[in-house]
Amino acid sequence: LVGAHGRAGRSTVEVGGAEIGPGTFTLIAGPCAVESAEQTLQAAQMAVSAGASLLRGGAFKPRTSPYAFHGLGPAGLRILSDVRAATGVPFVTEVLDTRDVDLVADHADMLQIGARNMQNFALLRAVGTTRRPVLLKRGLSATIDEWLLAAEYIAAAGNENIVLCERGIRTFENATRNTLDISAVPVVQKMTHLPVIVDPSHSGGRRDLVLPLSRAAVAVGADGLIIECHPVPEVALCDGPQALGPEDMPELAALMKDVPRLA
Ligand code: PEP
Ligand code: MN
Repeated sequence: LVGAHGRAGRSTVEVGGAEIGPGTFTLIAGPCAVESAEQTLQAAQMAVSAGASLLRGGAFKPRTSPYAFHGLGPAGLRILSDVRAATGVPFVTEVLDTRDVDLVADHADMLQIGARNMQNFALLRAVGTTRRPVLLKRGLSATIDEWLLAAEYIAAAGNENIVLCERGIRTFENATRNTLDISAVPVVQKMTHLPVIVDPSHSGGRRDLVLPLSRAAVAVGADGLIIECHPVPEVALCDGPQALGPEDMPELAALMKDVPRLA
């Protein structure tokens, strides 16, 4: 189902009025985690100022340590819905547990499957039975074949509205949080009709790498970007070191304006 449909047959996925696919370049931006109504609204306004047509923000956060901030849960979903009402911009948010799929799908325009759950087959099947588009992030150490078979689980359950996200993979290198596998973008675009976006924030794990890696994503032909931003990155409860701050948004906006778009 997700195998190549040929160059002319590349798919566009529609998300609450925004489009991800060929001929366009979509920016998704927002905080790593929803922390408060004010922080989420401010981050959303930053995202829109840079040209984002979709917001991101985690209400349910997968964290390495059980003692870290795990998100506001249902209250975070309500904040995201309020911010959508205030800005008119749809949002994507992660679902971690099959038991939460219906709740998250009731609020969100798009469901995110995070890297750590890429092979949570029960969760893939569960989001596959919803009508919401799915953002499927590549697993920490997943091969491209494994990633596409994970997408196949969602499609086989009845939902073919899938966007793939390259977010960096585990390598021996530790100067960056992960290693952005930039070749995955054109490789995957040949193997599937699904749109492919890049997450430069989790790839590099460093604010100073977000713009350079974003330019690489544009150059290689990605269908969009998903980027973390925060009104005050220094006090972020999650992933502050990789979040863009207000002073970084003009450069991101300039990049978005310069992206060559096909007619
Ligand atoms: C995220 O995008 O919020 C996230 C947790 O990323 P990843 O699953 O790619 O680590
Ligand atoms: Mn994050």
